Amino acid sequence: MKVLKFGGTSVGSPERMKGVAQLINDGDKKIVVLSAMSGTTNSLVEISDYLYKKNPEGANEIINKLERKYKQHVNELYTTDEYKQKTLAFIKDIFNGIRSFTKDIFTLFEEKVILSQGELLSTNMVTNYLQEQGVNVVLLPALDFMRTDKNGEPDPSYIKNKLAVLLEKHPDADLYITQGFICRNAYGEVDNLQRGGSDYSASLIGAAVGALEIQIWTDIDGMHDNDPRIVDKTSPVRQLHFEEAAELAYFGAKILHPTCIQPAKYANIPVRLLNTMEPTAPGTLISNDTESGKIKAVAAKDNITAIQIKSGRMLLAYGFLRKVFEIFESYQTSIDMICTSEVGVSVSIDNTKHLNEILNDLKKYGTVHVDHDMCIICVVGDLRWENVGFEAKALDAMREIPVRMISFGGSDYNISFLVSKDDKKRALQSLSDHLFNH
Ligand code: ASP
Ligand code: MG
Repeated sequence: MKVLKFGGTSVGSPERMKGVAQLINDGDKKIVVLSAMSGTTNSLVEISDYLYKKNPEGANEIINKLERKYKQHVNELYTTDEYKQKTLAFIKDIFNGIRSFTKDIFTLFEEKVILSQGELLSTNMVTNYLQEQGVNVVLLPALDFMRTDKNGEPDPSYIKNKLAVLLEKHPDADLYITQGFICRNAYGEVDNLQRGGSDYSASLIGAAVGALEIQIWTDIDGMHDNDPRIVDKTSPVRQLHFEEAAELAYFGAKILHPTCIQPAKYANIPVRLLNTMEPTAPGTLISNDTESGKIKAVAAKDNITAIQIKSGRMLLAYGFLRKVFEIFESYQTSIDMICTSEVGVSVSIDNTKHLNEILNDLKKYGTVHVDHDMCIICVVGDLRWENVGFEAKALDAMREIPVRMISFGGSDYNISFLVSKDDKKRALQSLSDHLFNH
């Protein structure tokens, strides 16, 4: 069985929902994971924000507007009165539920419940639509099987067992539909897998059922070799290793959420990125296979801060790096890039919430220098150290650009450069020109 995930824009209007319904109704049994309609989760966040600020009027304004929008969709989506009424009643229930939170104290718990409504709406609407079309479709409530443990991490054995029971109850169904993003935590409370988490849901479900393939459907034709919003020409990449995809997803490629990689990689289930606007296009296949001797793609991550700690004490000393890293750990700040020399170390971070405290603590160990507004440029491909010439090619592309840090050899799959954000466009373009022939 395959698991197919459709993102917010793929179900972003009644028209698009019909498109998805047609796409998935091809006679093959499958599990379909849906996001909320695009914009909905943002609106739910906004509603929660007003409620945290004790402004129920502000919240109600957005609630009413959103409800009106959903009611309009009903007329466009369904043809029979029966399904129009059924779906309208469901929508009314959802929005009255949201309204009930405007009257009482508002905490993280209520917020999580509000954030879960978008996926409940989209999955019900699509399921009802398919049922109206006479399709044998079953809605599997994600809140009945998707669960995190006490550390907030997904609980694979719980998910696997519960999902198996649910699937066994409906052996004859042609299609199973479920919600992405939403789950329960270890205490049974409604929770979620973080913004953009529907990809993660699909990957966890794929791993749980031992899927043949996990498909992530969006509205571009797979992962591109560079950022099409920034450089002149880009092409889709047809094949990626999981680790290449993870680097790209983490370092800026918006098409896939980085958390989605791990469950699929461990279960050895290929992930295919496909385009709802062009369903027959090949997209990008991500698997445990490496295409040897190829540089695949470039991605960039903004808002990076570089910190350099220089110390004479580092010379011939041990334990220096541990002390430095412990400071970052104590402020729960993760490090992206790291470069060392005998007399100093540079690291990059993207979370500057505790920057001042970190800098204060670091000053105990050396002279500290900070560079703001930096950008990590990550080149991904078969970059095993035995290969000759690939690093040189990437470096050559950076010939004209001031480079603050270079990181290579951390994995077999990437070389990263830290540059000023003002040089980002130039760097990306030059890498494209040197590495890919368009
Ligand atoms: N609807 C959620 C969000 O907007 C989850 C997702 O779309 O992946 O973050
Ligand atoms: Mg998404």
